[in-house]
Amino acid sequence: MSTVTGSVQAAIVTVGDELLLGQTVDTNAAWMGRHLASMGIPVTRRWTVGDDADDIRWAVSEAMRGGNLVLVTGGLGPTPDDFTRDVVAELLGRPLAEDPEILEMMRARYRTRGMDDLPAINRRIAEVPWGARKLANPHGAAPGLAMEGDGALVVLFPGVPRELRGIFQGDFTTLVSERFGESLPPVHLHLVHTTGIPESRLSEQVAERLPQGTAPAGLAFLPDVRGVDVRFTFIGLETPEVEGHVRRLEEALESVLTPWRFECASGDLAEAVADALRTRGRVLAVAESCTGGLVAKRLTDFPGASDVLEGGVVAYANEVKSAQLGVDPSVLARYGAVSEEVARRMAVGVAQRLGADAGIGVTGVAGPTGGTAEKPVGTVWYAAAVEGRSVARKERFPGDRKAVRERAAQAALFLLLRLLDGRVAADG
Ligand code: AMP
Ligand code: MG
Repeated sequence: MSTVTGSVQAAIVTVGDELLLGQTVDTNAAWMGRHLASMGIPVTRRWTVGDDADDIRWAVSEAMRGGNLVLVTGGLGPTPDDFTRDVVAELLGRPLAEDPEILEMMRARYRTRGMDDLPAINRRIAEVPWGARKLANPHGAAPGLAMEGDGALVVLFPGVPRELRGIFQGDFTTLVSERFGESLPPVHLHLVHTTGIPESRLSEQVAERLPQGTAPAGLAFLPDVRGVDVRFTFIGLETPEVEGHVRRLEEALESVLTPWRFECASGDLAEAVADALRTRGRVLAVAESCTGGLVAKRLTDFPGASDVLEGGVVAYANEVKSAQLGVDPSVLARYGAVSEEVARRMAVGVAQRLGADAGIGVTGVAGPTGGTAEKPVGTVWYAAAVEGRSVARKERFPGDRKAVRERAAQAALFLLLRLLDGRVAADG
């Protein structure tokens, strides 16, 4: 394929009635936009159309007029409402032909699932426009298909988000650097993970201290229920220059970021906690009431968790809190299950009972029922302990039951991380 000089401009077409009817949120377009931007490729326009051949033809033609990289998702399946492949093949004047490799790969997939015959309808997936390059799909049968036409590179992806992402991050990324490499500026990302501070407050504080004019970086705040990632994007700079900017940014923002940040490869705080336990040679046990095992689940999502997690107790009923964790029934009666004393006692007790040297205790009102004037829905006490000494915090988390539980597990993990690395001290 030839190399196009000049800037790369991407256009996106997403196909599917379900997207128009609001049954499925168009996460593909957002995901591709974000990832293209981080490759230095701006998305300048996008269209969403239903499963209708005329509309797909119209949108893809428009997209090819406006951009030299056109990404299309959806409508690549085998059913009669999947038109994308046929329409684009016709638009680019490339007749369809059955690809024996894809056919054999699909037959093999069926065989490994114990099915003998490939349903006839599925043969449509093996049809490839003449001369199209196949992009491997690590998670499904239909490959991505890349074709040139009228100065644009047109790439078709399946609609299933996982399949799209696998193709995009594999063969598609290789293809783009082959095809546009010379006209793509170098892109560097600097990512800071934070948790426990709302996006609005964080962005205000960052803006106040950002060095004026010294950092030609794109700044983005990426929040979710667990925390906020701060992303600095440097486009068109060489590595040493970027390193200088990152150093100055880090110095300027140190006081804002230090209380809230954590570091790890995955961006999941549970991994940072596991790393911190591992480097200190500590082993954790968790006692969970309102999170029902979520803290343990988060930790065991990572391979190697057995190095740092002894186990956990889901102590939902008061009897379990006292019989299994040693929480004194009189303490439960006096302060209630959702209290500082109980959270601390759970963290210390579970570590003792399970033979660990660090502990977490979480107890709260996840809702929607069970709140009182004194302890409204969202009230959570959580504690972290190391060698019998503990620290506890109370918070009133916003959101529904799921959000309260997510936020409580995250906050408890973060308290333990800070206790381990000395950002907070045990006081009980
Ligand atoms: P399709 O490739 O059109 O058969 O799409 C398969 C499935 O992927 C659909 O049923 C949707 O659940 C999902 N999907 C398709 N397009 C999108 C999109 N733009 N964003 C998120 N999910 C999608
Ligand atoms: Mg569809």
